[in-house]
Amino acid sequence: MKIFGIIDLSTLDYPKKCSSVVFMSGCNMKCGYCHNYTQMKKNTYNISPYKVYKSMDLTFSEAIVVSGGEPTVQPQALMEFCKIVKRERNLPIKLDTNGSNVDTVKELVQEGLIDYLAVDVKCAFEKYWDIAQYDGSKIESNVKKLIKICKKEGVFIECRTTYIPEKIDREDIYTVVRTVKGCDLYALQQFDREHSWKEEYRKMREPTLEELVELGKIAKEYVPSVAVRSKEGILYL
Ligand code: SF4
Repeated sequence: MKIFGIIDLSTLDYPKKCSSVVFMSGCNMKCGYCHNYTQMKKNTYNISPYKVYKSMDLTFSEAIVVSGGEPTVQPQALMEFCKIVKRERNLPIKLDTNGSNVDTVKELVQEGLIDYLAVDVKCAFEKYWDIAQYDGSKIESNVKKLIKICKKEGVFIECRTTYIPEKIDREDIYTVVRTVKGCDLYALQQFDREHSWKEEYRKMREPTLEELVELGKIAKEYVPSVAVRSKEGILYL
């Protein structure tokens, strides 16, 4: 299992729970604003899923978050790690994914290994190449499939967009929220330029809280529960 980091205790990564987080290496996208891209390239370790589990201090953890990178690019290691967590501690597991691999997520959900799924919907689908260097033509149908699978299996599903004002416009948000209607929570996240790996992004303007709230109100027309995540904290609309 290739990983580039562990956080023993986080209050931010699993909503309303204290969690431990593992960051799995590798990703099939290359978003200009990615915070982890450089670290993933420099500091990846290959250790067994059981050793990863044993390395985590779960003393105060109520849940586990598997993040990345994109965890589904290591499907077997991901599956094994989730099985170990369920067998040893039966803690709730949240999986962060970019929505590119429906089959792996479906298997995890159907095996009862995931309790919370957070899916990035980065932008309008024709803009994926510009923002994530990935062909986004299948993402729209993938997201709809993931919402359907989670609804059927009773797994909480969050969809989320990092709002970059110089790349994403109001029409794009309409496109995204029309696609994600049916999810349990839609979150608009504030773009953080400082930690972007690409220089172009480090020069871009960050959105204000007011802009995020205004877009959140558009989202509320389609999704009953909307959150805004900014440097000021989390606001539920
Ligand atoms: S999908 Fe996530 S991990 Fe992959 S490059 Fe984009 S932001 Fe980074």
